[in-house]
This record gives sequence, structure tokens and C-alpha cells, in this order.
Amino acid sequence: MPCLYSAQNRIALLTLDGPPVNSLGLAMRESLMAGLQRAFADPAVDALVLTGANGLFTGGADITEFGKPAGMQAPNLHEIVAAIEASPKPVVAAINGTCMGGGTEVSLGCHYRVAAADAMIGLPEVKLGLLPGGGGTQRLPRAGGVELALKMILGGEPVKAAVLEEAGVLDAVFADAGFVEAACAFAREVVKAGVAAGAPHPRVRDMKIKMADPAPVFAAARADAARKFARFPAPQKCIDAIEAAVTLDIDAGLKREFELFMDLMRTPESAAQRHAFFAERAAGKVNGLPKDTRPRAVNSVAVIGAGTMGGGIALNFLNAGFAVTLVETTQAALERGVANIRKVIEGAVAKGTLTAEKAQARAALLKPTLDFAAIASSDLIIEAVFEEMSVKQSVFEKLDTHAKPGAILASNTSTLDLNRIAQFTQRPQDVIGLHFFSPAHVMKLLEVVRGAATANDVLATAMAIAKKIRKTAVVSGVCDGFIGNRMIEQYARQAMFLLEEGASVEAIDGAVEAFGMAMGPFRMGDLAGNDIGWAIRKRKRAEDPSLVVSRIPDLLCEAGRFGQKTGAGWYDYKPGDRAAHPSPWVAEMLATHRKASGVPQRAIDADEIVDRLILALVNEGAQLLDEGIAQRASDIDMVYLTGYGFPLWRGGPMFHAQQTGLGKVVERMRTFAANPLADSTFWTPAPLLERLAREGKTFDAA
Ligand code: NAD
Repeated sequence: MPCLYSAQNRIALLTLDGPPVNSLGLAMRESLMAGLQRAFADPAVDALVLTGANGLFTGGADITEFGKPAGMQAPNLHEIVAAIEASPKPVVAAINGTCMGGGTEVSLGCHYRVAAADAMIGLPEVKLGLLPGGGGTQRLPRAGGVELALKMILGGEPVKAAVLEEAGVLDAVFADAGFVEAACAFAREVVKAGVAAGAPHPRVRDMKIKMADPAPVFAAARADAARKFARFPAPQKCIDAIEAAVTLDIDAGLKREFELFMDLMRTPESAAQRHAFFAERAAGKVNGLPKDTRPRAVNSVAVIGAGTMGGGIALNFLNAGFAVTLVETTQAALERGVANIRKVIEGAVAKGTLTAEKAQARAALLKPTLDFAAIASSDLIIEAVFEEMSVKQSVFEKLDTHAKPGAILASNTSTLDLNRIAQFTQRPQDVIGLHFFSPAHVMKLLEVVRGAATANDVLATAMAIAKKIRKTAVVSGVCDGFIGNRMIEQYARQAMFLLEEGASVEAIDGAVEAFGMAMGPFRMGDLAGNDIGWAIRKRKRAEDPSLVVSRIPDLLCEAGRFGQKTGAGWYDYKPGDRAAHPSPWVAEMLATHRKASGVPQRAIDADEIVDRLILALVNEGAQLLDEGIAQRASDIDMVYLTGYGFPLWRGGPMFHAQQTGLGKVVERMRTFAANPLADSTFWTPAPLLERLAREGKTFDAA
């Protein structure tokens, strides 16, 4: 039984035990309800204590049941709470560790709540675009006040037991050691006191909210949520539900909460957020990797190259407590790199997010050196030198000489062939791609590039390390640009075709930013450096002279307009300011070019701009899936959500296409194919996409 039952000294102990997180799926709820009924009926039991096994109380609802009949099937959380509230025997929630969502709601239905000192308690539903639908929005404000409820329900972050004790939500906090015994002793005291007082045990539903003037508090919360979460409906509905706790009696409030919960369950935003939640978990699973693959031990790290990426990568590992050896070729480059790292660490101290003591300890973990031999004891070595095959070759040959046997040799290359890089060593099985995104200590995404020879345990180690440095790892096969950049190249190409046909830089950026992208293609180019794309285009044209690409971005780069770093790109910039200003120079350049090109000019509306850019991503994504470069469509979504500023509330490009309907997507692509500028292949639907559309299927069937 997932809910264990034992009775001793007139106390029934119910223990939620469903590894890994004791979630409250149907089987657990049935078993919990059976345990409650048994204890209520047993004359040898005076009180009940509810706790969790596996070091935690419960992770909450079983979200694989969301939207499925099992999620609502009796006994649901309301029925469990109702049974507890109706019990004449006191029920004590003994929160022994993490307690989330439905677990917190059940605890609020108990007569008493005690927690272990290290317990973390939260209502994270808002992160899935939902609200606590098991009474949390009605009982938490009654137990701990409206302000606390707003903070916990809108923030979604768990809080420490001490905070809830202070707010009166918890009756007591006990030390972690001997916690369950302490909770049982508490229950015995409660029985004694209850008998003496002759009064019923307290229920949160009977508590009154004391608040002189709630209106301004809710108005402020609404304004704040509108500012912070403009595109998400859940925060506003959370506020509506909490307000119902103030204005309605508990039963009407619970009814209102349920209606609002169901409204949210039907929103596309919640569907997207739930998709992203599952996508993140799925990304951690590597196809073909045996379950028992043991990762290699990684205690020390070396980074080769202290430039933009090397510095950020080193910081990542320092922040996670690893010793980092940083190797450069010249003293000046080394000093520059170290100074950049120090600046970020000191910045964190100045901002108050890091103590001076911790900053010092972190900086002390860094070992800068010009001596390549210093990597000899490193378990993981990450190369981040210039993007040139000859430079990579010389570095990997040196790594092969100096690295100890079994060390993992990783490359941060963005575009070069990892399989060739691996061949520069005598140990291609130890070589892997770890593609970080700039700024590497900030961006969540890490593309883990699996080479043809990469050993399983090297791959498993990379996935484990990603977790330690708090990255979202997505596995990619070897190809030019891997998942993210190969797709963005088609998006950028399409943006240039739009320019050729008469759309302005500002209109294109504005349209996709209104769609929700963090940045349009031109603002992004100016940030990353337009020269990077220029170099790639030159190489591509040399490889395939028939490739149709616009001349416009070359004209920009030939004028030295590389973006923010040169103070001018697609936009103009003022010194010391990152704000993008429309550029008369670019407008003039476009006018001259368009006159000479003879391409018919027309007004292009925002819908067409957005669809052409986003569907360019989708088609290339489908191609990557078909080629097996990406393991699953949701991995592609994770790449775009965590590395390219795709709006979370749309769930990623592949999910967006799926929600639109793959049939409609293909239809739209066919209308774009009539565009005289498109090269003969641009809008040819990827065979996989075409097949799924024809069969009326989704990417899940890929
Ligand atoms: P960068 O020019 O800022 O830094 C490269 C550093 O490597 C320089 O400091 C240089 O002195 C050093 N270096 C060169 N040869 C070396 C050698 N033999 N030994 C030790 N150090 C050496 O370049 P970057 O932008 O940090 O890019 C580094 C790598 O990361 C490239 O492969 C690039 O494609 C990739 N990358 C870059 C980005 C980005 O946005 N900049 C993003 C992802 C990946």
C-alpha cells in the first residue's frame, strides 16, 4: 500500500510512501483514505499523525494525471480533506521535509500542523499556469493571512518551516532528529488538552480572516502581477481566488476556486507550461543509454581559453564549488579573463546576493595558468578557444598528451565537426561537445553533443554535471550548428528575405517581440555580433555556392556595423547605453539595395512576419528530428525556451506548431513557397512534418 499504516500507544501513524516523491496519485489517495477510515473507526486510536517516507512529506499531485479522469477520480483531495475535517479525532500533519501543492493543501485540512526544521513548504501550481485547486487558496489566507497567501501562491516558491510557524500556519517546529516521535508526542498532548477542554479540535475552515481594508492589497497585487506576468493568466486568477476567501464563506470560496482552476486548466498558457515541465524532465533522458551507466567522477575542471565563453564557463563551475584550472596562451589574455571573472563575483557581493566570505572562497578555487601541463589532474577539460579547426586541432593534440587517462575532453565549439575534433586524439570515446550559451554563467541551456565515438559513461557524466551546474541539458547529434543554431540560421535567413521584400528592421523585430520572443532577430544579431553570422555565411557559400542568401547582412558587416560591440549594427547605439535606436544609415542602405535588386516591394503584415520566422524554425526542427539529431520534439522546445528567448507561455516552437495544427502549418508553408524570393527548397516541408500533417498526427508520433 502506498500509504503505510501503523498504530502504537493510541496514535495511528499514516506514512505516504510512493517513491520517488510520494505524489498524491489515485492509488495514494485511495490508500490514504482507507488509512484515515481505519483509524477513525478503531476505538484503540485517539489521534492520527500523517507524515511521509523517503525523506519528504509529498511532492503534491501526480501531474501525469492532469487532464485525465484519474486526476479527478474519488477520493480527490477535497474528499480527503472533508473526511479529516469531519473527524472527531484530531489529525496532525507531520511535515517531515519537502511538502508541495496538494500536500500543503491536505496539511491545511488537518487540525494541527507540525514540521521538521528543514521542511520546505510550497504551493507551486502557478508555475504550471494553474492555482492550488485543493482548497489552498481558501485555507492558507485563513491560516496565515492574505499577504502570506499572495506571496506563496503567486511566487510558487517553497518557504521554510520557520516562516510558517511565525505566521501561525504551523503549530510547532521540531528538530529533524526524532521528528516523527515528537509529532506523535504532540498528538498525545493534543488529545489530553482536547479532552480537558471538551471543545472540538480547530479547523482552518472555521478561522476568520482579519483584515481592515483588503481592497488596496488586492489592487496592488493585481498591478504587480500585470507588470511581472503580463502574458500569463494564472497569477490574476490566483488573486481572484484568494480574494474569494475574503469575500465569500468557505464553501462558496471552494466552489469559486474550483471554477477558476478549471478555467486555467483550459488555457493554452497552462498547456504550454505543463508541456515545458514535462519537456524539461524528458530532456534528461538519453535514448540508448543503458540505465545502469555509471557516470565518471568529476571533482576538478579545467577550461582552455579565458575569452567570452571560457570565462563564463569557468564561473559556472566556480559557482557550483568546483576547483577550476584556467589555461591561456598569453599573460595578458589570462589576466583579462581572470579580471572578468572577479568582476562578476564582486558584482554579486555588491548586489548582496553573495557574502564576501563566499566570494573569497569562490575566487580561491580558480587556478589561472599559462602551463598546459597543469591540466594533468583534471577530470573534465572544456576547450573554449578560437572557432578555427587548426586551433582546435593543436589544443586537442595537447590535451591528448597531458590529460590523465579517463579525463573527459569537451569542446564548446558552435559549428565545427565534433567527430573530426575527436579524431585529433587517441581517445575519441572521451570527447564530447558541451555547447554553452552566452553569457555562459547565466544562460540555462547546455547542448550536450554526442559524437559518433562518445562513450556512454562520458555522456552520462555530462548529463550529471549539467545538473550540478544548474543547466538544462539537451542532447544533440553532430551537425552544423547543432539544434539551436541550425534552426536559428533559417530564421535569420528568412528575416533577411523579409527585409528584401520591404519589411523594416523595426517592423520585423516588433512583430516577433509582440509574439513573445525576448528579442527580434536584428536586436539579437546586434547583441551576439553580426560578424559571427558573416563568417558562417562566407564558409557556407564556399561550401555550397548555390545557397540563396540575401546580400543585405553582408552590406551591414562590410560597413563594420557588427552590433553593440562596435556601437552600430542594425540599430544605432549611444555610448554606454544598450538601447537600440532606428538607424538612418540602415534605412538608406536598404533603400539603395532594394532599388538595385528590383525585388517587388509590398507591405507585409505582422502575422506573415511571425509565421515566416517561426515556421522557418519549425521546419528545420522537424528536419532535425527526422535526422535523429534531436531526440524528441520537446527537446527542441527546451532548447528554444532556455537558450533563445522563446516565450514559455507558447511552450516552444514545436509545441506552438502542434497547437496550431501541423496540417495548418504545412498549408501556410505552401503559401509562402509561392514567394518568388524563396529558394527552391526553403518552404519544402520536412518529410516528417508533411507525413505527420497528412496523417493528422502530432510530433509525439515522430
Ligand atoms: P574569444 O575570442 O572570446 O576567446 C577565445 C580565447 O581562447 C581567447 O582568450 C584566446 O586567447 C584563447 N586561446 C586561443 N588559442 C588558445 C590556446 N591554444 N590555448 C589556450 N587559449 C587559447 O572566443 P569565444 O567567443 O569565447 O569563443 C570560444 C569558443 O566558444 C568558440 O569555439 C566559439 O565558437 C564557442 N562559442 C561562442 C559563443 C559566443 O556567443 N561567443 C557561444 C557558444 C560557443
